[in-house]
Amino acid sequence: MSDQRIPWNQYFMAQAVLLSLRSTCTRLEVGATLVKDRRIIAGGYNGAVSGDNHCIDQGCYVVDGHCIRTIHAEMNALLQCAKLGISTDGAEIYVTHFPCLHCTKAILQAGIKKIYYLHDYHNDSYAIELIQKLGVAIQQVQLDQKYFEKLTSITQNKE
Ligand SMILES: [Zn+2]
Ligand SMILES: [Zn+2]
Repeated sequence: MSDQRIPWNQYFMAQAVLLSLRSTCTRLEVGATLVKDRRIIAGGYNGAVSGDNHCIDQGCYVVDGHCIRTIHAEMNALLQCAKLGISTDGAEIYVTHFPCLHCTKAILQAGIKKIYYLHDYHNDSYAIELIQKLGVAIQQVQLDQKYFEKLTSITQNKE
């Protein structure tokens, strides 16, 4: 039954998807999971600064076509490490959407060595150029439904 066991990249990407369900900005639900030595060290989702109003309650704060209220999922994951004093050097990140340029720069500067993403999303050409220039690996992950069929039965309460 070894082929039933969920592979690491499916497992960590599923965590990022789960985190995205906590997003408080309705424009895009994004989740990010930071992994080091096959252990999750932090997670993040799109949301307002802790203590501020949420987009889901107050509406988005849109300037020039972007919601400026939210901190992106990737940044929230990195900042959780900054806040708690966890090294991100040599870690990997799993994100539900191709990271924007700002997040890409932060990911690279934080010493992340591999980026896994689920969906293409306005893939920024300068972000791609930087990733390649710094020799950071990037890989798109396809979630395979066969590993998630069990979830439906596990999440249902049975008498
Ligand atoms: Zn918003
Ligand atoms: Zn971003």
